[in-house]
Amino acid sequence: MKKLYDVIIVGAGSGGVILSLLLARQGIDVLMLERDVQPLHDIRSEILQPNGQKVLDDLGLLKTIPTEAVHQTHQFDFFRIGKGRLCTFNYGDLPVPYNSALTAFSGPLHQHVLDATAAETTLTVLYGAVFNGLMRRGKTVMGVMAEHEGRNYDIRAKLVVGADGIKSAVRKALGIPAQVYQYPEGYLLGVLQRPPGFDHRSRYYIGRKEILGLHPVPNDQLYFFYLLSNATRAGLDAAGFESIKNAMAEIDPSLAQPLKQLTRLDQTIFRPCFRVRSKTWVADGAVIIGDAAHAMNPHVSQGRMQAMQDAVALSHVAQGCLAKGDCSALSLEAFERERRPHVEMLQRLGDEQTFFWNSASPVIQFTVDRVLRTLDDNARLRYQVLTTTAGLRQQSPFSLTDKLVAVGLLPDFRSDAG
Ligand SMILES: Cc1cc2nc3c(=O)[nH]c(=O)nc-3n(C[C@H](O)[C@H](O)[C@H](O)COP(=O)(O)OP(=O)(O)OC[C@H]3O[C@@H](n4cnc5c(N)ncnc54)[C@H](O)[C@@H]3O)c2cc1C
Repeated sequence: MKKLYDVIIVGAGSGGVILSLLLARQGIDVLMLERDVQPLHDIRSEILQPNGQKVLDDLGLLKTIPTEAVHQTHQFDFFRIGKGRLCTFNYGDLPVPYNSALTAFSGPLHQHVLDATAAETTLTVLYGAVFNGLMRRGKTVMGVMAEHEGRNYDIRAKLVVGADGIKSAVRKALGIPAQVYQYPEGYLLGVLQRPPGFDHRSRYYIGRKEILGLHPVPNDQLYFFYLLSNATRAGLDAAGFESIKNAMAEIDPSLAQPLKQLTRLDQTIFRPCFRVRSKTWVADGAVIIGDAAHAMNPHVSQGRMQAMQDAVALSHVAQGCLAKGDCSALSLEAFERERRPHVEMLQRLGDEQTFFWNSASPVIQFTVDRVLRTLDDNARLRYQVLTTTAGLRQQSPFSLTDKLVAVGLLPDFRSDAG
């Protein structure tokens, strides 16, 4: 390990790894520190939306994703539990070439991107390296203090990037005020043998404070996520687990057989959900990206995509700052100005969806059904929602008038198709 780098990135998650590649490919000297001793490989899956696909494509990494990592999904069917289909979103409506969603096993997908870092001669990736604090001169960040294999290191850098997730130690060390909100509900995740009917279609069931999502993933498997309150998960025992399985089989009877393979709670993972609002993302000599700056509710399925888009935007700004020899907060602000509006729109949308979809209120459920049925009939509004989820639209999917149309209080004079 050297004593001075151009850029030190703390955290080799999706944002950190993409940024490290982009910078190294510009010949910038990068050290990336990752606390875990090796990349995480578990059953976690995520949707690689069109905006994320473009980021990987621009890096030459989309077409080479191994088939065991991703599955192409064209349609998302939304159902009211016990009552039938409400709406279908068809990714085929989006512009080519990114006109499908890729439902991905996060581990192999991440490994694929990590593998590409090995070819970069100006990039050092250090696993089992924990960020412990910042080196400063006055207010300016000069580097990091880190621990690796029982030894402490002071490593200097012109720019330090906190890509270290929701509980970001870099954000704390920078003294950036942040609201870290944990939603009352998270998701129980698991993988089943895929029953018929899911080949390129995902299902999303909404009920009374109940959500079940089902995505086809590689190897003929089906990934499920089931909404669960943090309190229920904390007290969940074998009997409680059985009742969740029964509830899932009742929602979608095709799961009854595959669920028999799921005999223990430890075959599943529980992921809590957070929102992070940071007052600023930049400081003199440092910047935070991804969940460290702006985690959002997974309803929008954009958290990882936004971390990757941060990486792209920051790589351009950082290149300019390094060339000028000026990594002050004022210079780095261009990054935050570019990214904040999109991210905040998605955070608001995630919270709106949480309010409506996670609700037990019959009035709200009625409204949700009405909106989804309107979307099913209204190609214009449906496209606006789809492009937002796909990460291709910067502004909110609905104007005030659109909201009134969506709940059926106004006719849509602008719609020309069903
Ligand atoms: C249930 C659920 C479903 C989701 N589904 C989707 C989806 O479908 N699509 C999508 O785009 N997003 C999804 N997300 C969001 C997505 O997982 C996150 O937004 C994304 O992983 C954030 O990436 P990141 O690089 O900012 O942070 P992370 O992926 O959290 O990476 C941070 C890294 O920093 C490391 N680190 C932390 N502290 C230190 C330290 N002190 N020293 C060194 N290293 C450190 C960590 O070990 C980690 O590797 C979902 C989230 C949840 C909870």
